[in-house]
Amino acid sequence: MPLYEYKCNSCLNLFQVLKSVNERDISEKCPFCDSQKTIRIISQIRYFPCNTSTYSGG
Ligand SMILES: [Zn+2]
Repeated sequence: MPLYEYKCNSCLNLFQVLKSVNERDISEKCPFCDSQKTIRIISQIRYFPCNTSTYSGG
């Protein structure tokens, strides 16, 4: 599961959320100020290996 990084436009804090690819475009609520004005920022995305099943396209 990839780790996504978000930035809050209200308090300018950065935070990371571990979520599935399908949920990456769902806006996250800021854990610092509860604002919904967050944007996903492009950063080094780390994949946490969970199993070694074969990749089936997509
Ligand atoms: Zn905030």
